[in-house]
Amino acid sequence: MSFSLIPRGVYPAVTHISPKALAEKGVRLVLADLDNTLVPYRVTEPSRAVRQWRDALAAEGIALFLLSNSRKPGRPHSFAQKLDIPCIGHAGKPKREGFFRAMERMGVTPDQTVMVGDQIFTDVLGANRSGVTPLLVKPIRLAGNPGRYIRYAVETPFRLLGRWRPFV
Ligand SMILES: [Mg+2]
Repeated sequence: MSFSLIPRGVYPAVTHISPKALAEKGVRLVLADLDNTLVPYRVTEPSRAVRQWRDALAAEGIALFLLSNSRKPGRPHSFAQKLDIPCIGHAGKPKREGFFRAMERMGVTPDQTVMVGDQIFTDVLGANRSGVTPLLVKPIRLAGNPGRYIRYAVETPFRLLGRWRPFV
C-alpha cells in the first residue's frame, strides 16, 4: 500500500488516453471518476467523444467502470446507465473499499486496473493506496466554485511531478 499523491501521467482529457496503449500494458479495467473527469459538474449526458472512447476501450477488451464520490441521489447510476457501464456511487475515495469492490466485481487484479480522475486527494491517492495505477486528467471546468481553484493550486506540485513518468 502506497500513500503517494503522484499520478502516472497528466492528460488533457480522458479521450487522450489511448485504449490501445492501455491494452498493451495489460490493462483490463478503467475505473473512471465522473464529475470534471467524464463530464462537467451537473451535466447528465455523456458526450459523443466519451461514448466513442468507451467503445474503443471495449474493442481492446477493456471495461469502463464508473467510480464516483457523488452523493447526489441517482446521479452516478443514471449516468452509468446511459453509458451502459457498471457503477459504484458514493464510493468514498480515497478509501480503498470502492476500488476493491469494483475490481472484485470485474474479476481483475490491481495491476490490470487504472483509475482515471481529476483530483489528487481522492482519485490519485485512493488508486495508489489500492495498488491501482492513477492517471490524472485536467479538470474539465473549475468555474463555479472558488474551492475548486484553491484545491487545484494545492494539487499543482503533484500534477507537475506526475508529468515525469506517464504510464502510457
Ligand atoms: Mg472529479
